[in-house]
Amino acid sequence: MNSNFRRIAVLGAGVMGAQIAAHLANADVPVLLFDLPAPEGNPNGIVLKALQGLQKMEPAPFVTRDRLNYIDAANYDQHLDQLRECDLIIEAIAEKLELKERLYQRIAPFISPDAIFATNTSGLPLAQLSAVLPEHLRNRFCGVHFFNPPRYMPLVEFIAGPQTDADVLDRLEPWLVSRLGKGVVRAKDTPNFIANRIGVMWMLTVIHHTERLGLDFDEVDALTGPKIGLPKSATYRLLDVVGLDTIANVIEGMRRNLPDDPWAPHFSVPAWAAALTGRRQLGQKTGGGIYRREGRDTKVLDHATGDFRLAGAKIAPEVDGILKIGDAAARLTALRSSDHPQAQLLWSCLRDIFHYCAATLAEIADCARDVDYAIRWGYGWKQGPFEMWQAAGWQTVASMIREDIEAGKTMAAAPLPAWVATRNGVHEAEGSWSAAAGRLMPRSSLPVYRRQIFPTQLLGESRNHGDTVWENEAVRLWTLPAVDPRILIASLQTKSHAVSKAALAGLCEGVTLAERDYDGLVLWNEPPFAVGANLVEVLALIDDGKFDELERFVADFQRTAGLLRYSQVPTVAAVQATALGGGCEFQMQCTHRVVALESRIGLVEAGVGLIPSGGGCKELALRAAFLAGQQQYGEPNPAVYAAFQHVSTGKAAKNALEAQGMGLLSPTDTVLFNAHEVLYVAIRKARALNECGYRPPLRPRSVKVAGRGGIATLDHGLVNMRDGGFISPHDYRVAHAIAVALCGGDIETGSLVDEQWLLDVERQQFMTLARTPESRARIEHMLNNGKPLRN
Ligand code: NAD
Repeated sequence: MNSNFRRIAVLGAGVMGAQIAAHLANADVPVLLFDLPAPEGNPNGIVLKALQGLQKMEPAPFVTRDRLNYIDAANYDQHLDQLRECDLIIEAIAEKLELKERLYQRIAPFISPDAIFATNTSGLPLAQLSAVLPEHLRNRFCGVHFFNPPRYMPLVEFIAGPQTDADVLDRLEPWLVSRLGKGVVRAKDTPNFIANRIGVMWMLTVIHHTERLGLDFDEVDALTGPKIGLPKSATYRLLDVVGLDTIANVIEGMRRNLPDDPWAPHFSVPAWAAALTGRRQLGQKTGGGIYRREGRDTKVLDHATGDFRLAGAKIAPEVDGILKIGDAAARLTALRSSDHPQAQLLWSCLRDIFHYCAATLAEIADCARDVDYAIRWGYGWKQGPFEMWQAAGWQTVASMIREDIEAGKTMAAAPLPAWVATRNGVHEAEGSWSAAAGRLMPRSSLPVYRRQIFPTQLLGESRNHGDTVWENEAVRLWTLPAVDPRILIASLQTKSHAVSKAALAGLCEGVTLAERDYDGLVLWNEPPFAVGANLVEVLALIDDGKFDELERFVADFQRTAGLLRYSQVPTVAAVQATALGGGCEFQMQCTHRVVALESRIGLVEAGVGLIPSGGGCKELALRAAFLAGQQQYGEPNPAVYAAFQHVSTGKAAKNALEAQGMGLLSPTDTVLFNAHEVLYVAIRKARALNECGYRPPLRPRSVKVAGRGGIATLDHGLVNMRDGGFISPHDYRVAHAIAVALCGGDIETGSLVDEQWLLDVERQQFMTLARTPESRARIEHMLNNGKPLRN
């Protein structure tokens, strides 16, 4: 059966239910969002309040504001009949077995015979929940465990109940992966599933060793964050984000449900955390927990005194030195042999989590891949625990763990499972180790994964590099014969995929080759898509006074973008992560764009005191003229205004749908929720365009522009802002240059110009700015600091 879900019900409009509903609406699915009837006023009051809350939440659950309109509010007293129209129902009510059981009994008669019923429980046994359902529903019941915030956290744990049909899972998984863009991990029906079982154990491990070694919370956060590949929230900040009460409930659940776990004596809340909880200092939601803001200061709990002091403890230089060792094996060995308590903390925590992962693998997961993915996608680690272990030398680390077990240093005395000694790692080209099955398990064979040419790569896995056709230092031209041997792929090889002179040459070669020997060209880069022109080159030309050469570079940029637009074969940009400045201009001028939803796209040149001049202003002027042709507007028309607003402030769209609204993508472009699919879909799109008889557009010859009337109008507001001191004189100069380029130059309003005219105007404006010391200072500041200078 196909996985088409026409309407979905979400039960529970709390933290998770409301945000899941929002993400479903993002994915173009109408949602019916239920909660209890409100005790007074509008019976849908609880849901309506939740919907209001969604609009203020950060990070934003909705990709665009209008998505809210696709969620209908409902309550269990009035609207249960409408459940029959839903083909997927996701339950996300409070985490209490008896409440869920009662609700299941109430709604079961209203669930349509083909609908799938899923729970978002964080750890209640599916077996127990399933038992309340009528027999005929049990085969369609499963766990779909989203992580908070559901729009942004990739992980969804997918759990079969005792009677769930394999078909049901195989039908839902592709939809979760492709439509919602999630990373799906199939977990066994064990307490807390995989991510929270390991993730919470990691927190308990860090808490245990912090106390044992007498370290401070902020000191431990400095150690257990980005320095070891974990997110900035590290450990204690994360506890504050999640809430100390929530964590206490999860730990209590582990204590109750895992009495035989050898680590069970550690499943308890430390006294300092219980004291904070007792005082309702639960973390962020109550204005502070382990950390709190006092004026401009951040203070942290000093667990020795119980007082709060200024936060900001640092890593000792000798430990920092160890963490800078590039080789993972040497780094871990050095941590272990150092006497410094900070080094001891890191070694002990890593050792104990490796130990725990090995000990529980067979019980909680089908294979090690699922553990590493769960921790990467659910907790934001750069590498999963098994990967870290494997990177540091599997057997060497195993011996060190064994020695520490024998010396009584580990948190549990359980031996490492026998399989550990038989292996040299858990991830190999053929698959990942399954402790339960005693063999390597290949990746899922579901067709949806064929769309991911480069899935999240695990250490030890090989990667298909395709066949290289041509390359220079900046661009590789290649094909993926297994997907389509006649679609050429061009990929930048420069740092952050900046567009250099060599990159322009490579892209031109790509178009030439594609026109001669292939059916289409795809522009794809390992994320980020591209950050724009190579500013190092631009600055060097400015400093050497080589303005003629700089202008030739800009003209080459325009010519290359023009080749992409007017190529005889379709060109498709496959965009993910960021497409800024020149990168944005290139994608704008391809035939079609396939874009990952969560991409930042923008013409941000104003930040470096320049204007888009690789055809970016020209594209926006063309679009404005096209829109004006459809309706009678004054000059400048609203599209010029809108473009001016974002280009002059250097604002980037936060996601693909916003970029469509800003005219940086076209309404007919393909937006994908799963970034891993962009390359595959772009190749398929190029093929489809070719099959449908592609022919390049003609170069525009009579474009109506806003001219000097438009410039004067846009200038009017700018002058006021400059004279009022809201923008600097140089901001004014940059914005004015943008106004000139978007309005087609200082010519009569309503004049008809050709495309080359527009390109010449934007290039001249660029060159005028490039000669100013203020723009030079902005470029240098960006190169040195990675952020714009406001001068
Ligand atoms: P929440 O407390 O924010 O919301 C729970 C909702 O359940 C509320 O809207 C409430 O009105 C409703 N509810 C309470 N009693 C009910 C009853 N008797 N019948 C019907 N509805 C009732 O909770 P949440 O954080 O959104 O969690 C919901 C589910 O998602 C839980 O199973 C939780 O374990 C799981 N979960 C939570 C998170 C998280 O970070 N909060 C993450 C993943 C999964």
